[in-house]
Amino acid sequence: MSKKMSGIGASNGISIAKVYILDEQPIKISKEIPKNIESELTLITSSIVKAKTDLENLQVIAKEKLGEEKAAIFEAHASILEDPAMAEEFTALVKEKNYNAARAIKEVADKYMSMFEAMDDDYFKERAADIKDVTERLIRYVLNIPLADLATINEEVIIVAEDLTPSQTAQLNPKFVKGFACNIGGRTSHAAIMARSLEIPAVLGLKTILHDVKDKDVLAMNGETGDVEINPSDKNKWKKLAENFEKEKEELKKLKDKPTLTKDGFDGFVLEGNIGSPKDVESVLENGGEGIGLFRSEFLYMDNDHFPTEEEQFISYKKVVEEMKGKITIIRTLDIGGDKKLSYFSFPHEMNPFLGYRAIRFTLDRKDIFRDQIRALLRASAFGPVGIMFPMIATIDEFLAAKKFTLECKAELTKEGHKVGKDLQIGMMVEIPAAAVNADNFAKHADFFSVGTNDLIQYTMAADRMSENVTYLYQPYNPSILRLLKMTIDGAHKHGKWAGMCGEMAGEPDALPLLMGLGLDAYSMSATSILKARSIMSKLTLKETQQLATKALECENSDQVLKLVKAVMKDK
Ligand code: PEP
Ligand code: MG
Repeated sequence: MSKKMSGIGASNGISIAKVYILDEQPIKISKEIPKNIESELTLITSSIVKAKTDLENLQVIAKEKLGEEKAAIFEAHASILEDPAMAEEFTALVKEKNYNAARAIKEVADKYMSMFEAMDDDYFKERAADIKDVTERLIRYVLNIPLADLATINEEVIIVAEDLTPSQTAQLNPKFVKGFACNIGGRTSHAAIMARSLEIPAVLGLKTILHDVKDKDVLAMNGETGDVEINPSDKNKWKKLAENFEKEKEELKKLKDKPTLTKDGFDGFVLEGNIGSPKDVESVLENGGEGIGLFRSEFLYMDNDHFPTEEEQFISYKKVVEEMKGKITIIRTLDIGGDKKLSYFSFPHEMNPFLGYRAIRFTLDRKDIFRDQIRALLRASAFGPVGIMFPMIATIDEFLAAKKFTLECKAELTKEGHKVGKDLQIGMMVEIPAAAVNADNFAKHADFFSVGTNDLIQYTMAADRMSENVTYLYQPYNPSILRLLKMTIDGAHKHGKWAGMCGEMAGEPDALPLLMGLGLDAYSMSATSILKARSIMSKLTLKETQQLATKALECENSDQVLKLVKAVMKDK
């Protein structure tokens, strides 16, 4: 019987294939007291060596398939095994509590995993998965239970599992593995990131799929929307969708080195990529990005155990700027707080952290931390065009204070003999409604705006972007949002400045015609959306998008707006 389910679309692509059920039963660990403590300790040591050899081999495979940066995850996994603190804890449990090897490893792993899982931040939560991956491998060696060998799959399948570990994902051969669907996981898990690099469709967070499928079932999945159907009632429909997706992908590749032009030849729109770390630059360039519209610098802080120094930050920023070879890089200053926490710094407890001490509010208060970042950014600006962008600006005073501080750091650096880029731009995110409404005043002082719709929508609708209960209020197409966008864009243009967008909305196919019509200049999105955006733009004339935007601004609700968009996009 057919059954439809919906999860998190984690890697684009549409597939239909037989299921491959990866149902790894949890390993049973006995409480048996070991007869010989020394041989138990030797067993741990020899298993560590075997697991490390595995990881080294996996790193070689991953380097070939996924590139150096992504393969580095296995180096990180090996370093978990090499961690002397962990090894000491294993030994202590065996020696002092008479635990057997497997039980000692499991106990220590559980402790670290629950520590990571308790953290609010998704990134750290997912590090728990890394510990699980490594320690399970170790326990399997200790107990002599072989691992499932996914590398040997040699027929077309979609893997259904509770979860896929990074080491399992790296072994997948995209020729045969047409996708995977898992009970747990999200867009930022390593498995999802690797799936996107391997171009294997993935849907995660399906909760019960492993329970719902049986051997010989057929699965259809859409890695973009998160839709999944077990034993689809209309297989041909899915086959056609999959074919069209592949055809479109091939077609889009042709646009990689083409200019961004509207149907009537307007060349004023720029398509850029969002990145979270220097390693993401490659994908922006491969997908024909004309710049980086948002470098979320907080990942340098979150991926660390201390506030990164000026020098450490300078190295990262410079790397990105140089790799962009003359194309602009907009780097956002530290946007921490809210849902983004640091393991080495405690934020004060607040009732509403999203409305609290975060982003520019924090850095203006902690100039010591801000200085290191601003100096690093200014020094990197000597190597190519850079924009510095302040997050969560609500008032003109905040912007002026941040700008003044930046100019003071610049004077300081020049005095010290450092070079700073001549065409440095200093701009701001528009993600608080107050900034959008006051945009024409802000534009007197800021070189550019970049609209953060992820937050602008949450603050305008007073609807937490993380809450599943109020997702219906997350309405990019609501006329109130469109009106705020118009104020922002018009405000910038009034003073000869440019307006961009780096929230998710910038890459939404339905939003593009509206944003073009509103006159948005720069569109920054995840790398894999860029070519599709270029294609959509090439099918629309400026005039028709302007007419659409005018009508949309007069609508009463999102549905009316979307109906207008669909009418314009029909047959394109
Ligand atoms: C936004 O708010 O739209 C944005 C781009 O910032 P973030 O998603 O990092 O809050
Ligand atoms: Mg934001």
